Amino acid sequence: MVSARRADTRWVTRLIPVFLAGCVGLVTYVIVKRICLDYLSASENRPGTAISLLVLYLVFFALMLLCYFRTFFVIQFNPGVTPLGPKAIEQERNGKGKRRRERDLEASVRYEARPDDNPDSPGLEAFYSKDVFVCDTDGRPRWCSSCCNWKIDRAHHCSELERCVKKMDHYCPWVGGIVAETSFKFFVQFTFYATLYYIVVIVTAVIYIESNARNEASIDGFAVAVLAISALFGLFTFTMTATSVRYILVNFTTVDYVKSKTLVHQLAIRVPRGTPSCQDYPVITYPLPKPVPGQAAASESSCSRDQLATRSFAIVKTEMGENPWDLGFYRNWISVMGDNIIDWLLPFTLSPCVSYESNESFYEMGPLVQRLRARFHLPELSDELQKSEMGEREAEVIHGV
Ligand SMILES: [Zn+2]
Repeated sequence: MVSARRADTRWVTRLIPVFLAGCVGLVTYVIVKRICLDYLSASENRPGTAISLLVLYLVFFALMLLCYFRTFFVIQFNPGVTPLGPKAIEQERNGKGKRRRERDLEASVRYEARPDDNPDSPGLEAFYSKDVFVCDTDGRPRWCSSCCNWKIDRAHHCSELERCVKKMDHYCPWVGGIVAETSFKFFVQFTFYATLYYIVVIVTAVIYIESNARNEASIDGFAVAVLAISALFGLFTFTMTATSVRYILVNFTTVDYVKSKTLVHQLAIRVPRGTPSCQDYPVITYPLPKPVPGQAAASESSCSRDQLATRSFAIVKTEMGENPWDLGFYRNWISVMGDNIIDWLLPFTLSPCVSYESNESFYEMGPLVQRLRARFHLPELSDELQKSEMGEREAEVIHGV
């Protein structure tokens, strides 16, 4: 079922660009040739109007195409998927050389329901080396049973790609696949310029039809068809632009928005080492203890350097609808669109949130984390602790870690 649906989706994704090219070709023929050149410039002798409309048409057409291809190629070549876990990689390797349909079938049965119990599980350290991450009830990161790997904050498993996708937004057949963190900025720019493009087309077609009516000439069927197509697509792209801008301003993805009314985030927030669990919150300490036969817990026998390298996290829940990544309108906007107007308008640089530069969390978190610290009375990471950690890092260097 899943593989049949994926095959259908692939066909739809291939056919839609052909359909779009046909529509844009027809619109260009009618606007440029029939209306601007043949009618306004030649018959009506209004070259000024014709040139103004042509320039506007071509500028927005070029910008729309540029953003479209940027979105399309990013989606094809840099869709923002997270790595598969070792077991899934092994299955992928075994499946190489098989036909696509068979691979799809295998991907849909690739399944590891239980999170990896190994304390040194690959990729786990990337979570507890941060100060805050999204976790499950037991304090470990979320687990993707299909990718057999840990899920980074805000990643969602996409059944079309059979992979977890970072800041997955939605599947869009119009731009050839999954819109996610690497492509969302370009996607919004595309829908924005497409809206302006269709507005120019609608204005041009209305001028033409109205002029025909005034001269009591017969109404051109081509112009009516173009007007209908543009009104439909224009309304659609305008709605997409408005919705996307709204999500950017509140730092939501479409996936977040669909769940937002009922969504509660569970966060592991770093607290001083040795903070005990209490009634308000449990505490988890990393690295997780190694199970040693005959001993209750290996942490007892760990050497002092390992104990120094441990990090403790309180496990707390947000209230329903609270968004830990909300940084305020302006910083939310910058995190996706970039910090200058050139980046806002042109589809060249990737969104700043793609860089993962922060040591504190995968994506920058807003004031909610401090509010949660206060709400649950979490002990602050004191200066003293930070100093001891600097010592710890030096110790690590000495021990050659
Ligand atoms: Zn996954």
